[in-house]
Amino acid sequence: MAQRPYIVGNWKMNGTRAMLSEARAIDRAAQRLMKVEVAIAPPATLIHAVHKEADQIWVGAQDCHQSESGAYTGDISAAMAADAGAKFVILGHSERRGGHGETDASVKKKVQAALGASLAVILCCGESEDVRDKGKELAFVTKQLSASLPKMGNAAEKLTIAYEPIWAIGTGKTATPDDIGAVHAAIRKLLVDLYGAEQGAEVRIIYGGSVKPENARELMSVPEVGGALVGGASLAADSFMGIAAAAADAFEE
Ligand code: PEP
Repeated sequence: MAQRPYIVGNWKMNGTRAMLSEARAIDRAAQRLMKVEVAIAPPATLIHAVHKEADQIWVGAQDCHQSESGAYTGDISAAMAADAGAKFVILGHSERRGGHGETDASVKKKVQAALGASLAVILCCGESEDVRDKGKELAFVTKQLSASLPKMGNAAEKLTIAYEPIWAIGTGKTATPDDIGAVHAAIRKLLVDLYGAEQGAEVRIIYGGSVKPENARELMSVPEVGGALVGGASLAADSFMGIAAAAADAFEE
Protein backbone atom coordinates (compact mmCIF):
# COMPACT_ATOMS: atom_id res chain seq x y z
CA MET A 1 0.00 0.00 0.00
CA ALA A 2 1.30 3.48 -0.85
CA GLN A 3 2.45 5.40 2.21
CA ARG A 4 0.74 8.62 3.20
CA PRO A 5 2.75 11.78 2.53
CA TYR A 6 4.84 12.76 5.55
CA ILE A 7 4.87 16.50 6.28
CA VAL A 8 7.22 17.51 9.09
CA GLY A 9 7.67 20.97 10.59
CA ASN A 10 11.07 21.92 11.99
CA TRP A 11 10.49 24.88 14.28
CA LYS A 12 14.25 25.31 14.85
CA MET A 13 14.99 27.82 17.66
CA ASN A 14 11.55 29.38 17.47
CA GLY A 15 8.70 29.21 19.91
CA THR A 16 7.80 29.74 23.52
CA ARG A 17 4.64 28.46 25.21
CA ALA A 18 2.73 31.11 23.27
CA MET A 19 3.29 28.89 20.18
CA LEU A 20 1.22 26.09 21.72
CA SER A 21 -1.89 27.62 20.16
CA GLU A 22 -0.26 27.09 16.75
CA ALA A 23 0.49 23.45 17.63
CA ARG A 24 -3.16 23.00 18.68
CA ALA A 25 -4.34 24.51 15.38
CA ILE A 26 -2.02 22.17 13.43
CA ASP A 27 -3.33 19.19 15.38
CA ARG A 28 -6.97 20.15 14.76
CA ALA A 29 -6.35 20.63 11.04
CA ALA A 30 -4.46 17.30 10.87
CA GLN A 31 -7.54 15.57 12.28
CA ARG A 32 -9.41 16.72 9.18
CA LEU A 33 -6.62 15.60 6.85
CA MET A 34 -6.08 11.97 7.69
CA LYS A 35 -4.54 11.24 4.28
CA VAL A 36 -1.38 12.98 5.46
CA GLU A 37 0.99 12.10 8.30
CA VAL A 38 1.79 15.40 10.04
CA ALA A 39 4.60 15.96 12.54
CA ILE A 40 6.37 18.84 14.23
CA ALA A 41 9.75 19.12 15.90
CA PRO A 42 9.50 22.05 18.31
CA PRO A 43 12.47 23.23 20.37
CA ALA A 44 13.32 20.78 23.20
CA THR A 45 11.68 23.10 25.74
CA LEU A 46 8.28 22.52 24.09
CA ILE A 47 8.39 18.80 23.26
CA HIS A 48 6.48 17.73 26.35
CA ALA A 49 3.90 20.51 26.13
CA VAL A 50 3.22 19.88 22.42
CA HIS A 51 3.03 16.14 23.10
CA LYS A 52 0.35 16.79 25.76
CA GLU A 53 -1.68 18.90 23.30
CA ALA A 54 -1.38 16.59 20.28
CA ASP A 55 -3.92 13.90 19.42
CA GLN A 56 -3.18 13.43 15.74
CA ILE A 57 0.31 14.71 14.98
CA TRP A 58 3.70 13.18 15.78
CA VAL A 59 6.03 15.22 17.98
CA GLY A 60 9.80 14.99 17.64
CA ALA A 61 13.15 16.45 18.66
CA GLN A 62 15.56 18.42 16.46
CA ASP A 63 18.70 16.64 17.67
CA CYS A 64 19.96 14.27 20.37
CA HIS A 65 23.34 13.34 21.81
CA GLN A 66 24.89 9.99 20.94
CA SER A 67 25.47 9.04 24.60
CA GLU A 68 22.82 7.83 27.00
CA SER A 69 23.76 10.26 29.79
CA GLY A 70 26.76 12.07 31.21
CA ALA A 71 28.67 15.32 31.42
CA TYR A 72 27.40 16.94 28.20
CA THR A 73 26.20 20.37 29.21
CA GLY A 74 23.27 21.59 27.16
CA ASP A 75 22.64 18.31 25.35
CA ILE A 76 19.74 15.87 25.59
CA SER A 77 19.89 12.13 24.98
CA ALA A 78 17.55 10.13 22.76
CA ALA A 79 15.97 8.54 25.84
CA MET A 80 15.36 11.98 27.37
CA ALA A 81 13.68 13.18 24.17
CA ALA A 82 11.53 10.03 24.15
CA ASP A 83 10.66 10.56 27.82
CA ALA A 84 9.45 14.08 27.00
CA GLY A 85 7.11 12.62 24.35
CA ALA A 86 9.22 12.65 21.18
CA LYS A 87 8.51 9.85 18.73
CA PHE A 88 11.23 10.84 16.26
CA VAL A 89 14.35 12.95 16.01
CA ILE A 90 15.80 14.99 13.16
CA LEU A 91 19.52 14.22 12.82
CA GLY A 92 22.32 15.61 10.68
CA HIS A 93 20.53 18.83 9.73
CA SER A 94 22.91 21.12 7.84
CA GLU A 95 22.53 23.73 10.60
CA ARG A 96 23.90 21.13 13.06
CA ARG A 97 26.60 19.91 10.69
CA GLY A 98 27.64 23.47 9.81
CA GLY A 99 27.06 25.30 13.11
CA HIS A 100 28.00 22.58 15.59
CA GLY A 101 30.75 20.72 13.79
CA GLU A 102 28.79 17.49 13.36
CA THR A 103 30.48 14.98 11.09
CA ASP A 104 29.10 11.98 9.22
CA ALA A 105 30.68 9.78 11.91
CA SER A 106 29.03 11.64 14.81
CA VAL A 107 25.69 11.72 12.99
CA LYS A 108 25.93 7.95 12.50
CA LYS A 109 26.41 7.46 16.26
CA LYS A 110 23.38 9.65 16.91
CA VAL A 111 21.27 7.61 14.48
CA GLN A 112 22.31 4.44 16.31
CA ALA A 113 21.49 5.99 19.70
CA ALA A 114 18.08 7.22 18.52
CA LEU A 115 17.07 3.87 17.01
CA GLY A 116 18.31 2.18 20.19
CA ALA A 117 15.92 4.39 22.18
CA SER A 118 13.07 3.40 19.81
CA LEU A 119 12.86 6.84 18.21
CA ALA A 120 12.20 7.12 14.50
CA VAL A 121 14.89 9.10 12.68
CA ILE A 122 14.75 11.76 9.98
CA LEU A 123 18.29 11.80 8.63
CA CYS A 124 19.16 14.94 6.66
CA CYS A 125 21.55 15.18 3.75
CA GLY A 126 22.23 17.74 1.06
CA GLU A 127 24.90 19.55 -0.88
CA SER A 128 26.19 23.13 -0.74
CA GLU A 129 25.80 25.55 -3.64
CA ASP A 130 29.46 25.06 -4.50
CA VAL A 131 29.03 21.30 -4.85
CA ARG A 132 25.87 21.78 -6.93
CA ASP A 133 27.65 24.29 -9.21
CA LYS A 134 30.33 21.67 -9.87
CA GLY A 135 27.63 19.11 -10.77
CA LYS A 136 28.81 16.78 -7.98
CA GLU A 137 25.59 16.62 -5.94
CA LEU A 138 24.77 12.95 -6.56
CA ALA A 139 28.24 11.79 -5.53
CA PHE A 140 28.22 14.13 -2.51
CA VAL A 141 24.81 13.09 -1.19
CA THR A 142 25.37 9.35 -1.61
CA LYS A 143 28.78 9.59 0.09
CA GLN A 144 27.36 11.67 2.94
CA LEU A 145 24.50 9.21 3.48
CA SER A 146 26.67 6.09 3.21
CA ALA A 147 28.89 7.52 5.93
CA SER A 148 25.99 8.61 8.18
CA LEU A 149 23.82 5.48 7.98
CA PRO A 150 24.46 2.61 10.38
CA LYS A 151 23.67 -1.04 9.67
CA MET A 152 20.08 -1.21 10.80
CA GLY A 153 18.74 -4.75 11.11
CA ASN A 154 15.05 -4.29 10.45
CA ALA A 155 14.86 -0.65 11.53
CA ALA A 156 14.18 0.63 8.00
CA GLU A 157 10.58 1.35 8.92
CA LYS A 158 11.84 3.86 11.50
CA LEU A 159 14.04 5.71 9.02
CA THR A 160 13.20 8.69 6.81
CA ILE A 161 15.78 10.47 4.65
CA ALA A 162 15.36 14.22 4.13
CA TYR A 163 17.12 15.61 1.06
CA GLU A 164 17.74 19.27 1.80
CA PRO A 165 20.07 21.13 -0.56
CA ILE A 166 21.75 23.64 1.76
CA TRP A 167 21.39 26.48 -0.74
CA ALA A 168 17.59 26.01 -0.72
CA ILE A 169 17.13 26.18 3.06
CA GLY A 170 15.52 29.43 4.18
CA THR A 171 16.53 31.17 0.94
CA GLY A 172 13.31 31.04 -1.06
CA LYS A 173 15.18 29.06 -3.77
CA THR A 174 14.00 25.53 -4.47
CA ALA A 175 15.60 22.80 -6.50
CA THR A 176 13.79 22.02 -9.75
CA PRO A 177 11.56 18.94 -9.88
CA ASP A 178 14.07 17.27 -12.22
CA ASP A 179 16.98 17.98 -9.87
CA ILE A 180 15.05 16.67 -6.88
CA GLY A 181 13.93 13.59 -8.81
CA ALA A 182 17.52 12.76 -9.77
CA VAL A 183 18.81 13.03 -6.20
CA HIS A 184 15.89 11.08 -4.73
CA ALA A 185 16.41 8.32 -7.30
CA ALA A 186 20.10 8.11 -6.35
CA ILE A 187 19.15 7.94 -2.66
CA ARG A 188 16.64 5.17 -3.35
CA LYS A 189 19.30 3.18 -5.21
CA LEU A 190 21.69 3.58 -2.30
CA LEU A 191 19.04 2.43 0.20
CA VAL A 192 18.27 -0.66 -1.88
CA ASP A 193 22.00 -1.43 -2.18
CA LEU A 194 22.44 -1.04 1.58
CA TYR A 195 19.30 -2.68 2.94
CA GLY A 196 17.96 -4.87 0.13
CA ALA A 197 15.01 -4.41 -2.22
CA GLU A 198 12.22 -4.76 0.34
CA GLN A 199 13.59 -2.66 3.19
CA GLY A 200 15.29 -0.17 0.89
CA ALA A 201 11.96 0.53 -0.80
CA GLU A 202 10.25 1.07 2.54
CA VAL A 203 12.38 4.02 3.68
CA ARG A 204 10.65 7.32 3.04
CA ILE A 205 12.57 10.08 1.25
CA ILE A 206 11.27 13.61 1.80
CA TYR A 207 12.39 16.96 0.37
CA GLY A 208 13.23 20.14 2.30
CA GLY A 209 14.22 23.62 1.20
CA SER A 210 11.84 26.59 0.98
CA VAL A 211 8.71 24.46 0.65
CA LYS A 212 5.58 26.64 0.77
CA PRO A 213 1.87 26.14 0.06
CA GLU A 214 2.43 27.70 -3.41
CA ASN A 215 5.12 25.24 -4.55
CA ALA A 216 4.21 22.17 -2.49
CA ARG A 217 1.92 20.50 -5.01
CA GLU A 218 4.55 20.55 -7.74
CA LEU A 219 7.34 19.40 -5.41
CA MET A 220 5.22 16.64 -3.87
CA SER A 221 4.38 15.30 -7.36
CA VAL A 222 8.01 14.43 -8.10
CA PRO A 223 8.62 10.65 -8.23
CA GLU A 224 10.20 9.31 -5.01
CA VAL A 225 9.23 12.41 -3.01
CA GLY A 226 7.35 11.08 0.02
CA GLY A 227 6.75 14.35 1.82
CA ALA A 228 8.45 17.51 3.02
CA LEU A 229 10.62 18.81 5.83
CA VAL A 230 9.47 22.39 6.35
CA GLY A 231 11.26 25.14 8.26
CA GLY A 232 9.93 28.70 8.01
CA ALA A 233 6.49 27.81 6.65
CA SER A 234 5.83 25.42 9.55
CA LEU A 235 5.68 28.22 12.13
CA ALA A 236 2.10 29.16 11.23
CA ALA A 237 -0.66 26.56 11.12
CA ASP A 238 -2.22 28.06 7.98
CA SER A 239 0.88 27.84 5.79
CA PHE A 240 2.03 24.51 7.23
CA MET A 241 -1.32 22.84 6.76
CA GLY A 242 -1.60 24.45 3.31
CA ILE A 243 1.47 22.39 2.44
CA ALA A 244 -0.12 19.28 3.95
CA ALA A 245 -3.29 19.84 1.89
CA ALA A 246 -1.23 20.31 -1.28
CA ALA A 247 0.60 17.06 -0.54
CA ALA A 248 -2.73 15.24 -0.13
CA ASP A 249 -3.82 16.55 -3.55
CA ALA A 250 -0.51 15.61 -5.18
CA PHE A 251 -0.64 12.05 -3.81
CA GLU A 252 -4.21 11.60 -5.02
CA GLU A 253 -3.40 12.46 -8.62
C1 PEP B 1 14.89 23.21 7.07
O1 PEP B 1 15.68 23.88 7.69
O2 PEP B 1 14.79 22.00 7.32
C2 PEP B 1 14.12 23.84 6.01
C3 PEP B 1 13.71 23.10 5.02
O3 PEP B 1 13.90 25.20 6.13
P1 PEP B 1 13.03 26.13 5.13
O4 PEP B 1 11.74 25.40 4.85
O5 PEP B 1 12.81 27.39 5.90
O6 PEP B 1 13.84 26.31 3.90
